[in-house]
Amino acid sequence: MTDGKSKADYEKNYPMLIPAAYYLTYAEAVRLYNELLDAEISALVKTCGPPSFPFGDGIWYQLLIEEEEADAARAIVEAFEAGRAVVAIVRCPRCGSAGTEPVPRPAFWQRLYYAGTTLYQCAGCGRKFAA
Ligand SMILES: [Zn+2]
Repeated sequence: MTDGKSKADYEKNYPMLIPAAYYLTYAEAVRLYNELLDAEISALVKTCGPPSFPFGDGIWYQLLIEEEEADAARAIVEAFEAGRAVVAIVRCPRCGSAGTEPVPRPAFWQRLYYAGTTLYQCAGCGRKFAA
């Protein structure tokens, strides 16, 4: 045994931890952790996700905070979650429509030309663009 702490010790040191956010990438977890820290809320970053991975850790991260700090953290977490949702919307550079979708099978030359990006098509005006 290298870890002398029992589960009871752990729970005594970290009373009433509740999850503030799930399924963050590592970069998102660090960003939210720092935003909470600015508000003097210390969060615990843990992995979560598919338990079937060979090394036991998930590929996603979650942030745990103390229950008594949940009210103070709520506004920060909600603003953070809203920011994540906004990033997922790709707007058309010509008409500004948010009705855009990745082109499912770009032509061969398009795959070369837009390598490293995703080719989108606007449902409003038909414009194709890389994002
Ligand atoms: Zn458009």
